[in-house]
Amino acid sequence: MIEELKEKVLAGGQVSREEALLLARDGDKQGLYRAAGEIRDRRVGRGFDTCSIINARSGKCSENCKWCAQSAHFHTHIEEYDLVDESTCLQLAAANSRYGVGKFSFVTSGRTLSDRNVERICHYAKEIGEQFPDLHLCASMGLLRKEQLQRLREAGIRRYHCNLETSARYFPSLCTTHTTDEKVATIRAAQEAGMEICSGGIIGMGETLEDRIDLALMLRDLGIRSIPINVLSPIPGTPLEHMPPLTDEEVLTTVAVFRFIHPDAYLRFAGGRKLIAHIEEDAIRAGINAAIVGDLLTTVGSKVAEDMEKVKALGFTIQ
Ligand code: SF4
Repeated sequence: MIEELKEKVLAGGQVSREEALLLARDGDKQGLYRAAGEIRDRRVGRGFDTCSIINARSGKCSENCKWCAQSAHFHTHIEEYDLVDESTCLQLAAANSRYGVGKFSFVTSGRTLSDRNVERICHYAKEIGEQFPDLHLCASMGLLRKEQLQRLREAGIRRYHCNLETSARYFPSLCTTHTTDEKVATIRAAQEAGMEICSGGIIGMGETLEDRIDLALMLRDLGIRSIPINVLSPIPGTPLEHMPPLTDEEVLTTVAVFRFIHPDAYLRFAGGRKLIAHIEEDAIRAGINAAIVGDLLTTVGSKVAEDMEKVKALGFTIQ
């Protein structure tokens, strides 16, 4: 069945929800990972996409996402600050450009961003664009309006990030201050503003296998081509702090099934990398072809140069 579905995907077909579930439940795990890696190799080759982020505003968020260290609803011990200044952004952009990181993203905590702060980000983006034209700029700023997204696009920000996080069915158990529909509306508005979209989710938040597959299918319906896969890093003080970790098999199966559903996408390692460091190479073999490098938001990521070397040693070229 794995081989049959692999051939179907390689011929341009799509796996259905039922087929994705069959793949995820198949006992031949090595066969599944191998087939997913082959789909990646044959559909998109061995280019590896890298990006890095600047945590441009931290903490004090009005939303109650149960996994998040930045929510004001929970008592976590993170550094909180308002929008960073221009020189901090430029310094980080310069470092990323020097290391050959392809994309650089402004990430801010909060439900949304004020018009004034959107304008400040536009100013930073224009400066970075002039000084480091090789950097592709992205932004992740919550539920922005279409006019705000248009302003960012005009300032040179080409991609907007908004994770759906999990299935629409499970999301209300994790967050009650905003909805999947609001996220989808933001994604559509960014698409209409001429932006590419990066959207994925977090696994290990108590969701079922079906939730993971429904997330992948929702992303496919939205035409998403860059998909961050985060593994929950339970943060002390958040409601998910005692969530048991996923098994290696659950993580690798998720990656592989996502690859079957998204043969041409960038499946991107994101948060939680420290927890899965021992299976990173296996995950790349099973279909990962992108990563956020450097230090991530409020959890420890991995160092840029180290990441680049690891990826090259596996036979990939950095894009
Ligand atoms: S995930 Fe975003 S919206 Fe939710 S609490 Fe964290 S910063 Fe706020």
